[in-house]
Amino acid sequence: MKLPHLDWVNQDSPYLHQHQQGFRSLNFDGELEQAFKRYHANVFLRRMRWALLVATLLALLFVLLDAINLPEPLRSRVLTLRLGVIQPLLLLAWLATYRRGLRDHLQLIGGAVALLCGLSVAGIIGLARAHNFALPYEGIILVTVFFYFLTGLRFTTAVLCGWITFLTYVAVEVGVGFDGELLLSNALFLLLANVIGSVGCYSLEYSTRQNFLAQGLLQDLAENDFLTGLLNRRAFTARAELCWRQAQREKKPLGVVMMDVDFFKRYNDHYGHAAGDEALRQVAQVVGEHARRPLDCAARYGGEEFVGIWYGLSEEQLLAILESIRSGVEALALSHADSEAAKVVTLSIGMAYLSPQPQHSLEDALRLADVALYLAKEQGRNGVVSKKQIGRATG
Ligand code: GH3
Ligand code: MG
Ligand code: MG
Repeated sequence: MKLPHLDWVNQDSPYLHQHQQGFRSLNFDGELEQAFKRYHANVFLRRMRWALLVATLLALLFVLLDAINLPEPLRSRVLTLRLGVIQPLLLLAWLATYRRGLRDHLQLIGGAVALLCGLSVAGIIGLARAHNFALPYEGIILVTVFFYFLTGLRFTTAVLCGWITFLTYVAVEVGVGFDGELLLSNALFLLLANVIGSVGCYSLEYSTRQNFLAQGLLQDLAENDFLTGLLNRRAFTARAELCWRQAQREKKPLGVVMMDVDFFKRYNDHYGHAAGDEALRQVAQVVGEHARRPLDCAARYGGEEFVGIWYGLSEEQLLAILESIRSGVEALALSHADSEAAKVVTLSIGMAYLSPQPQHSLEDALRLADVALYLAKEQGRNGVVSKKQIGRATG
């Protein structure tokens, strides 16, 4: 699938890397594979649920047919397999789809149930054959199609189930001495059903993976700044609002921080826009590395300005983090011949330290952080200034 506007996506996006690298072996790198498995489980949960319900009802129909049609003692043996193995397994798997705690194991559970059902059906056909009763072998083709297209099993699991069932069927028929020529024709049809199923299931999973990557890329495009990979301003505002409300509820202090690269216009003028972009990327990396906890976040606010929010830390702890960002940027040692602050690229940082109160908003805090940043600029740049006027901050 050709996706448009990929050059607008942050070039560090794992979705972009995977898209460019390809995934013909139906496998993503590292954490992306885990994320895909969760996505797949969610997408196919309803399908799996319905498939198991339909399979349970169909299996019940076969119980009725067998109860009417089969002679004894074959009837009791087949019904034992149907009611003792297939029916409870399908029912249990169906119930498992409703348990949140089992979501991560549905492929395993679904695969095991599908395989056991396939083996049982092969067993039933063999059993009937051993009693000289010709049960239609097409039942096993139905089961096979079910594995591949309806259950929501991923390719590897479905292929394992399909081909093991196929081999078991052939082994069972050979075991009970089924006529060679007919067996060959049955086996050929079942083999073709498996080939078609495997190809279909592969392309189904391939498209699901493509959709997963496309969604991830879309999210990257919407939330991340393409130059630095940090969150963009819109995504920051959404996250920061959540963080603000959480801090209000839990009565925790927040550090709302504005950062601005010093004399950056001159940097661009002196070293060129491309070098400016590279400097911004490196500065952003330093900033991002300091906001890794789940409720902290850092973003590119626009141009050469960054913004961040840190949750539940004392002012001293926060000042230490901000000082580490300031010195980290200085330590990048990006020469800046025209800066009046230092010989290298530097960052001025302003923080509003506060405990969010109902009468104040995030915008108020950002304004205060901006005031602090202005002071940092006034005091000679390459420094950190903290202000705590609005709200009462608790350490
Ligand atoms: P101050 O120390 O007072 O912040 O001075 P400054 O020059 O950094 O401030 P000013 O706001 O005048 O200039 C910001 C410059 O940042 C202007 C623009 O050339 C540069 N800039 C903004 N966005 C980008 C970008 O995406 N890439 C590059 N290379 N430069 C950018
Ligand atoms: Mg600026
Ligand atoms: Mg600036």
